[in-house]
Amino acid sequence: MDATDRRVYLDYAATTPIDERVLESMMPFLTTAYGNANSLYSTGREAYSALEDARERIAKLIGADHPNEIQFTGCGTESDNAALLGIVSRKSPQGGHVIVSSFEHHAILEPAHALEKRGYEVTYLAPRKSGHIAVEDVEAALRDDTVLVSIMHGNNEIGTVQPIAEIARVAHARGALMHTDAAQTLGKIPFDVNELGIDAATFSGHKIYAAKGIGALYLRRGTPFEPLLRGGGQEFKKRSGTQNVPGAVGLARALELMVEDHEEESLRLSTLRDKVIEGVTSRLENTVATTLTEPRLPNIASLLIKGVEGEAMLLQLDAKGIAVSTGSACSSGSLEPSHVLLSIGVPPEIAHGSLRISLGRFTTEEDIDYFLEVFPPIVERLRSMSPVYEKMFGSSAK
Ligand SMILES: *Cc1c(COP(=O)(O)O)cnc(C)c1O
Repeated sequence: MDATDRRVYLDYAATTPIDERVLESMMPFLTTAYGNANSLYSTGREAYSALEDARERIAKLIGADHPNEIQFTGCGTESDNAALLGIVSRKSPQGGHVIVSSFEHHAILEPAHALEKRGYEVTYLAPRKSGHIAVEDVEAALRDDTVLVSIMHGNNEIGTVQPIAEIARVAHARGALMHTDAAQTLGKIPFDVNELGIDAATFSGHKIYAAKGIGALYLRRGTPFEPLLRGGGQEFKKRSGTQNVPGAVGLARALELMVEDHEEESLRLSTLRDKVIEGVTSRLENTVATTLTEPRLPNIASLLIKGVEGEAMLLQLDAKGIAVSTGSACSSGSLEPSHVLLSIGVPPEIAHGSLRISLGRFTTEEDIDYFLEVFPPIVERLRSMSPVYEKMFGSSAK
């Protein structure tokens, strides 16, 4: 195939294509079985039973005690917002203290800011240099009036996995509830709500080969919760709105497929991920992996390419048909580089040269070989054109 026709998608942490088998499971509910799950005639009942079947399957796969602990939402962002705002405002309407990490997704950070505006106090806990939240740091930040701790499971930019079970234990010991954003981990590493001991968790369909526009929120029975959406009382009065039946059915199927082969897939992906890291750092000087400390997600390689702008690398790779992501400023439309990289102490000028390569179900070894063939010359060319590279990175900067 001509190099310019070749398409290599290496941005699975941003979104995934719908798996054909998932689409197949959704098709009846996008076509003939279009009933409203709340209608009493047979077309409605058919949709209802598919919805409840999806709920049961998901509940079972995450070890929930009861299917009603799963509510379907419109996306991971909604689940994050609902967890933070819904739990805190019902459990402690008069104010209180909340702990989140400083490298959460914006879907947690923005509602945390909103809580501050309403008079709550929020601690933004920094991860350690390795990219992990330390349990003792959470313990030290907990107060008697801490209402909720929300720490993400797998970080979407650098791939580190947080010690959620241990954090939940110290949170509960001080009477706080525990939420985790598991959008990046669900189906990729073992996820059991009782083993983790959490009260709430966020899931997103389009990160695991289901459709965009479907998410779920796990909410342990008895957890205080104020609905974000009010209306017809669907989803046990916790999330009004006519349910997205094809989305929910697809989410259940997608999770089954993830869990089915997650061990082999995890091994396959981590091997490819390490090939990316090793391939780039051995071919190019002044490049490092952002972190190599375990535990990490098997599918995310985060690299710091010194002296090059992330945006420039992204566009040059795009011209070769390769899709990747960067935590550089321009791509996010702000002047500050990625808050995640800054939170673990990466200097801004180096964070500007970050590259996230995230792999998934349809990534092949040939894709990685192609990337490793195309990428080094791009960096060398960009560096040779850079007026500051030589000055900034010394004589080793060839
Ligand atoms: C993608 C993602 C979200 C947001 O999910 P959407 O379904 O895109 O709204 C939240 N948190 C993390 C960690 C994510 O990776």
